[in-house]
Amino acid sequence: MVIDSHAHLQSVDFDADRAEVLERSREAGVIAIINVGYDLPSSEAALELAQSYQHIYATAGIQPHYAAETTQQDLERLRTLLAQPKVVALGEIGLDYYHDRSPRPLQQELFRIQLRLAHELQLPVVIHSREAQEDTVRILREEAQGLRGVMHAFSGDWAYAEQCLDIGFFISLAGPVTFPKALELHEVARRVPLDRLLIETDCPYLSPHPFRGRRNEPTRVTLVARRIAELRGIAEEHVAQATTANTRALFDLSGLSV
Ligand SMILES: [Zn+2]
Repeated sequence: MVIDSHAHLQSVDFDADRAEVLERSREAGVIAIINVGYDLPSSEAALELAQSYQHIYATAGIQPHYAAETTQQDLERLRTLLAQPKVVALGEIGLDYYHDRSPRPLQQELFRIQLRLAHELQLPVVIHSREAQEDTVRILREEAQGLRGVMHAFSGDWAYAEQCLDIGFFISLAGPVTFPKALELHEVARRVPLDRLLIETDCPYLSPHPFRGRRNEPTRVTLVARRIAELRGIAEEHVAQATTANTRALFDLSGLSV
């Protein structure tokens, strides 16, 4: 039994066969899925799915890409969404200096605003950070004291992982940990304390080996668990149990009946 702690099932990539994808994941032992929003429409769509399926939960948040166009009205709509039952976190939010689709000062400002909103609403946060390690850590140190959170699809070395752990956040590993040449991620997978580790697909993106480049789906979170278990030299079951417990605790999935 595993939980996919980060998926985007509302993506058009699943429009043709969403129900079958979900059926497959249930058969593979995926007992819950956190379906993540990245702007207002995708957050609303995530919530709709969560309302249709008992084992799906939603998050709502605005990614840094949209920082330049986000208005006060958008933030009010976000606040309304975050108050809905089954919305379990604020995210994904953060900094993206790889795509750089919004000016960096505006990305940072939107990040800070949403972290303060998470404090106010007492919600955990899902962090997206690409090529922005230094600023991400700095802003989290300044704004995330006492917040619960996860570094989603963690990419970086052990030194960066240690900084994120030091802030008190979880580390979530996705498909790239299964890539043969991802040596930095292998080290992170070996060293992260088991009680601070989450697993995810980030589907439809980041398909694990040997499906790299193809559409990803929640079923394949089991491949992430298996690779981490191999790297640590422990049973897959052990990784599954720990990450399931961590995900339930982080997002307070008390309504989950399994
Ligand atoms: Zn994502």
